[in-house]
Amino acid sequence: MGIWQKELITGLLLLLVVGIIGGLTGLFLPLALAFTLVLLLTQLYQINRFEKWIRTGGRSNYPKTSGIWEEIYYHVYRIKKNEKKRKKKLGKMVDQFRQSTEALPDAAVVLSANDEIEWANKAAREVFGLQASDKGQRIPNLIRFPEFIRYLRSGNYTEAVILPSPVDHRITLAVRIIAYGAGLRLLLAQDVTQLKKMERMRKDFVANVSHELRTPLTVLKGYLETLQDMDDGESPLLTTSFYQMLGQTERMQHLVDDLLLLTRLETQQKKTECIDIPILLTQICKEAEALNGNAPINTLPPLTGKLFGRIELTLEANTCVIGEEQELRSAFTNLLGNALKYSPDDSVVKVRWHASDDFVILDVEDHGEGIAMTDISRVTERFYRSEVKRAKKVGGTGLGLAIVKHVLMRHDADLKIVSELGKGSCFSCYFPRKRICN
Ligand code: ADP
Repeated sequence: MGIWQKELITGLLLLLVVGIIGGLTGLFLPLALAFTLVLLLTQLYQINRFEKWIRTGGRSNYPKTSGIWEEIYYHVYRIKKNEKKRKKKLGKMVDQFRQSTEALPDAAVVLSANDEIEWANKAAREVFGLQASDKGQRIPNLIRFPEFIRYLRSGNYTEAVILPSPVDHRITLAVRIIAYGAGLRLLLAQDVTQLKKMERMRKDFVANVSHELRTPLTVLKGYLETLQDMDDGESPLLTTSFYQMLGQTERMQHLVDDLLLLTRLETQQKKTECIDIPILLTQICKEAEALNGNAPINTLPPLTGKLFGRIELTLEANTCVIGEEQELRSAFTNLLGNALKYSPDDSVVKVRWHASDDFVILDVEDHGEGIAMTDISRVTERFYRSEVKRAKKVGGTGLGLAIVKHVLMRHDADLKIVSELGKGSCFSCYFPRKRICN
């Protein structure tokens, strides 16, 4: 039988007793009134006890009682106990999480939507010099590097920003922000001092070796040219040997030059001016034609249309770009050189300078052998040359497109490659409108 039924039956039985006694004594009404009053007072007393118990948190053991009130006390007590257990478990989990993030070697800072510090681990306190009192402070007031503030405001956190530690400038940090939850962000900073040091050593090593190789190569080439001049052609073996040795020496010179250019691109400060791209392209095309043995053009640049040889230059935009002339010349020469190199001698190479709503674009299009799908994403890697080219022994260093990519990156531009094996390729350089100067 349920507790409710029991309570109801007890009440009815008591009422019956009151009824019988009232019937026998003739005092039914006063007895019934007294009974109702006692019942009401008892309930008021119970409610008062319950309110007192719950007001003190309902944590201690509940008072001794019976019937439905015992049930109520028991259920509330059980709910409270479970809640306490859950809270304890949650607290333990939070503690464990805090301990693990405290022990992280990387700095971690939780930021609110207003860039205020909500929490920071030990590493963050050390590398950023944060203190417990900095909680609630805005992070741009504490990490004041302009590149960090720009990164924080940009909202584009796909890449990390490299900063020195505000506490010790010898420490280099890679700082990254991860957005999560409702406007919250997690700032992570990794110590990359060692990595950057190794990278600098690698760059210095390549630059030094390339530089040191220049002089011996020039001497070697000079002697080989003299020997070739002295060769009377009586020994075919000697003649081919000189020819091949000179070819390989020139190749090594190209490699050294390309490596030095790449190092310069990685390390040197950008010098910028307004470059007349139509004039630059005309010069490059003329030089390429001359190198291919085609008649030089005497007309003043800029030119449009088919030049005397293989190159068709179309200048649809009269746009100049802010940049570094030597770098752009190298990049465009590499693209044009490749188009001529990797397409048949009798095919046309189209060079087109044009504008869209958001970009000014240079297309260099050939109808040559094209690039396999799997190679397209890799051709801009250093020393990457497709197997076909290696097998066919087409001359090259594998550094040309790496140079193009670097130069474009320094000009906020993108390289897009569309190519199909057997049909040809189109290399497009997209310069953003902010780079235009006229
Ligand atoms: P290199 O031409 O000296 O080998 P690059 O970095 O300029 O080095 O080019 C890398 C590779 O990309 C080349 O070896 C070639 O396989 C491929 N490639 C570049 N341009 C073209 C092109 N226009 N057509 C076909 N393949 C190309």
